[in-house]
Amino acid sequence: MRFDLGPLRLDVIDDGLFELRPETFVKVNQGRHASLLDKTRFRPRIKVGFNSLLIRGEGKTILIDPGTGDKERTAQVREYKMEWPRKVLPALRELGVQREQVDLVILTHLHWDHCGACTTIGAGGQIEPTFPRARYIVQKRELDGARRAIQTDDDGYLSDDYEPLFDARKIDLIEADDAHVLPWLSVHWTGGHSAGHQVVRIGTGATGHVMYFSDLIPTTAQLQVGSGMSYDETPNELSESKRKFMRLCAREGDLAVLVHAPRNRLGHLIEMAPDDYRFKAI
Ligand SMILES: [Zn+2]
Repeated sequence: MRFDLGPLRLDVIDDGLFELRPETFVKVNQGRHASLLDKTRFRPRIKVGFNSLLIRGEGKTILIDPGTGDKERTAQVREYKMEWPRKVLPALRELGVQREQVDLVILTHLHWDHCGACTTIGAGGQIEPTFPRARYIVQKRELDGARRAIQTDDDGYLSDDYEPLFDARKIDLIEADDAHVLPWLSVHWTGGHSAGHQVVRIGTGATGHVMYFSDLIPTTAQLQVGSGMSYDETPNELSESKRKFMRLCAREGDLAVLVHAPRNRLGHLIEMAPDDYRFKAI
């Protein structure tokens, strides 16, 4: 799915489907308790997608959340009935994007389904950055949070996805809540889903904006300010950030990208009443 934003050409790239257990989708006041339900009693049933964003223009090639990638993920393929192989890396080839051409990879957070594609197995069997010339942008709080989570066996993070980038000095850590990476691309800390989760806003006042919400609003099922996923770390923070960024998106007419929506991946938020939004897909 391709569209233009001023001088920029954007492609929403589908990484393929996987399945989540229905109890993953929760009201935030149930929070993580939902994940304590016996995993084996429920067959995964909700099909979710994964939508990466490729941005080309103004002399830059940029990827936002490149997806799961091509390192072996046997356990995840089984647990989440994940389509395999994943599709973003082959799609880039088809779109004429060489890995060396990618200048920036913006990561909303470091969960494996969002950032696994940042590293790959090199010719000698070693794990290396997939996009050798790229800088990788991530919140410092997210890297710190991921390293803490790894210690507690949180299976949302796999260190092979990001530590090799850190070792190769390819990561630029963002410490501010809000930062301009380029004059027409900014990142905004939200927390909530994970310690350093951030959303990405592309465009200018002249061109209008695209908001990559990532797991702040993963699908249209999370449009309510009080809804979330059992994976969300800090439900109150999540609701607060949803309130803030949904209002901004609706009032400024941003085009919203919903990362895990299998359909309705792109659209506008319409504010019906305070904290009450509809999604109008395009
Ligand atoms: Zn996600």
